Amino acid sequence: MRRIQLADNFTFSQFIQGYWRLLDWDLTPVQLVNFAKQHIELGVTTIDHADIYGDYECEAAFGQALKLAPELRQQIELVTKCDIKLVSDKSPQRQIGHYDTSAAHILASVDASLTNLNTDYIDVLLLHRPDPLMNADEVAEAFNQLQQAGKVRHFGVSNFTPMQFDLLQSRLSNKLVTNQVEFNPMNMQCSADGTFEHLQMHKVAPMIWSCLAGGRIFGEDSAQANRVRATLTQIAEEVGAGIDQVIYAWVLKMPCNPLPIIGSGNIKRIQTAVESSAIKLTNEQWFRVWVASNGHNVP
Ligand code: NAP
Repeated sequence: MRRIQLADNFTFSQFIQGYWRLLDWDLTPVQLVNFAKQHIELGVTTIDHADIYGDYECEAAFGQALKLAPELRQQIELVTKCDIKLVSDKSPQRQIGHYDTSAAHILASVDASLTNLNTDYIDVLLLHRPDPLMNADEVAEAFNQLQQAGKVRHFGVSNFTPMQFDLLQSRLSNKLVTNQVEFNPMNMQCSADGTFEHLQMHKVAPMIWSCLAGGRIFGEDSAQANRVRATLTQIAEEVGAGIDQVIYAWVLKMPCNPLPIIGSGNIKRIQTAVESSAIKLTNEQWFRVWVASNGHNVP
């Protein structure tokens, strides 16, 4: 498994394990320890969480596993996120979901994540969604406090446009280490709106969420999904691989150094995903997926 440098003396595994769907996997803490050990064994050491996953319960489920096997903490890089406030039974006074990038919320959210994850540091903290009310100076102050306290080692963002990224970066002394964005054959926006070019320019490797469009590519009955599936099936036959592997190879062909986040809780699928890094698509194969997605040829 390739290691990708994000900062001095700090790397991620090229493939990352996403834990958004952890509660769907229905694992006991012991089974979760085994699952984590298996993907670490495959080289997938970077783990993606968010405070809100599983209605605020995924981090704590993972923390229980870390309590059972504390030696795992040194073998992984833990990513988590803050800034979304969900409508939840846990906050009955909240009337609508919204974002909150105030220093008070960022600091409180990190303290809750540390407790839930059963760890004393987070490797990378991301702002989960761009907040129109974000005061970049206030976020920078919160980030400084967290770093000085040893609670968070590095910072990044998620779903940010280049302008939103640059605004926050302009107030920070350290580089934002990533922008976690969606990219897949059903949603190619980041390759068309300057997001990937901006990250390539600044040598910032994006984490890619929902590479498989959340599984929709395999079963959705829409014109776009049917076109994409047919094209992926042809290419999979040409390269002797599975459709999911062709998708990961298609994502990895982007020159901005993308880091796919695997969403599956099935270790065989994780292994298959990791093996797809050996598949090299031609430019024409990449564009056949582009054409299938858009439903028309390039202009
Ligand atoms: P994904 O890989 O696009 O989708 C995973 C889903 O696809 C799972 O339900 C999986 O089921 C299913 N799947 C995988 N292979 C399949 C196959 N061959 N046939 C049928 N179904 C298949 O990823 P994702 O879960 O949407 O997202 C990945 C990670 O990105 C999340 O865990 C989270 O960490 C992160 N994320 C971040 C944001 C953000 O805003 N920053 C948003 C969404 C997600 P099985 O488990 O049964 O394999």
